[in-house]
Amino acid sequence: MLLLAGFILVFGLLIVLIQIRIDRSLKREIRSDIDVAAKSVRLRLKGNEDYLLLMAKDRADNTLDHNQFQLRASSYVADHPEMINITWVDSSFNILDVAPIAGNKQIIGLRLDLTEPKKAATQAKKLRIPQYTKAFEAIQGNPSFEIWIPVFKGDKFLGLLSGVYSCEKVIRFLVPDQMKVRYRAGIDDENSEVVWREKYNGSIIPEIESEIFITPDESRLMLTFTRLGWGVIDWTLLILVLFCVGLVVGMAYSIWSNNVEVRRRFKTEKELQKQNLEFALLNEEYKNQNLELQHAKEKAEDADRLKSAFLANVSHEIRTPLNSIVGFSSLLNDPHLSAEVKKSYIDLVESNTESLLVLIDDIIDLSKIEAQQLTLKKQEFSIDELISELLLTFNHGKINSQVDLRIGQSIVGKSLFAVSDRVRLRQILINLFSNAFKYTDSGFIEMGYFLYDNNEIVLYVKDTGIGISKEYHQVIFHRFRKLNENSGKIFRGTGLGLAITQKLVELLGGKIWLESEPGKGSTFYFTLDGLTLNDISS
Ligand code: ADP
Repeated sequence: MLLLAGFILVFGLLIVLIQIRIDRSLKREIRSDIDVAAKSVRLRLKGNEDYLLLMAKDRADNTLDHNQFQLRASSYVADHPEMINITWVDSSFNILDVAPIAGNKQIIGLRLDLTEPKKAATQAKKLRIPQYTKAFEAIQGNPSFEIWIPVFKGDKFLGLLSGVYSCEKVIRFLVPDQMKVRYRAGIDDENSEVVWREKYNGSIIPEIESEIFITPDESRLMLTFTRLGWGVIDWTLLILVLFCVGLVVGMAYSIWSNNVEVRRRFKTEKELQKQNLEFALLNEEYKNQNLELQHAKEKAEDADRLKSAFLANVSHEIRTPLNSIVGFSSLLNDPHLSAEVKKSYIDLVESNTESLLVLIDDIIDLSKIEAQQLTLKKQEFSIDELISELLLTFNHGKINSQVDLRIGQSIVGKSLFAVSDRVRLRQILINLFSNAFKYTDSGFIEMGYFLYDNNEIVLYVKDTGIGISKEYHQVIFHRFRKLNENSGKIFRGTGLGLAITQKLVELLGGKIWLESEPGKGSTFYFTLDGLTLNDISS
């Protein structure tokens, strides 16, 4: 854009220079034209002056009477249309004769009181030489000028002859026609005030003037010529204006387009930044989704693996008691069986039926809990009694005599009551007790409760069994988790017990956790809602 502006500047300057040169040569040409025209006008005026001098001489010689004056003046004016009339004025400036009469009747007898003509006439009389007037408004209503010729006989002043010129006619008849094609001619006074000018409505520059004559007071009447058509200055101005407009428009456009470009870039950059940010966020989201998917996949695989293990286990758990039930039941058909053997077979069928029922109950319980269909039946009961009852039951069915079953030290003078679901609390304790039993070969299993931080009652089941390493403390509560697959010893189970236990504890408004180390036994702690300690006496 700046390049374009620079180009326009150089181009404009070039044109201005060319125009100045053309202007100068044009002015020279006009000057020579006008000088020729002015010269011819001056010559013509001089010719008229000479003729009027002749008439003045004849007047002085008394050879120019009224008739002869009329005849000669009229025919002279007819041949010289730039003149309005020729007048004879007596020594008192009274107009005695004017020719041609037509159109000039009203001036006969009038005393000339026009200041300008009178000034020239007085000067002419005084100096005894012809004098021109300044331009004036003639009595006929035309801008005019006049020449005064003093008439003397010897020293006697006889009067003056005057020739009145119409400015319009001077231009019309004395300026050559070919000049009028290119110029508008006119007459100005010395102050460049227009005396008369040809009519023209176009542009007329430049104007050049040339003197025609000098009046007695040294002021001049000028012939002016103005060239028609577009002048040089106009072109220059036009080009300058065009250039300035071009420059301003160009700069405005340049600033505007620059601005638009900057704003567009800024917007694009912002949009790009925004997009980048969005992409980064999306990326992050995808990463997270990927991680979640990965996690979900791993979980699904894990669940699948666990489910397979569970199915294998469950089928084994079901098959084993069922085999026993079917086997011993068919053996019972033998009529030769002693009563003792028969009883042991029946016991076995019963115990296997029992464990089958337990397994099926576990599965049903878990399904119910997960489907949120397990309803609690709350009632008030004594925890101490429940623990004692369980101890009795377990002691009764105990096979391993190396494990001592005991109740933990209770809180002195207090007994524990609960408003809760007794059946479910019993199930929790049985599960924990069964596990302790299952994983303890020697030592003891203790069931009890204590007051933690003087504030919360915590129930527990403690054993001196194989223990659980810390990394599995959370995992064992997940369903289908069985840890001792590789421990060398076979522990029967479905991996459902602790999952059900945890869910039941939570349903009863508590939480469950454990302390355990391999080889050092395990203690499972849990809390419950609705526990109260009452004085034993009450
Ligand atoms: P299972 O039917 O296999 O006993 P659980 O959910 O009751 O299933 O227990 C999950 C796992 O936690 C068990 O397989 C066992 O490895 C471990 N476990 C639970 N209780 C004890 C305990 N008292 N001592 C040692 N290990 C235990």
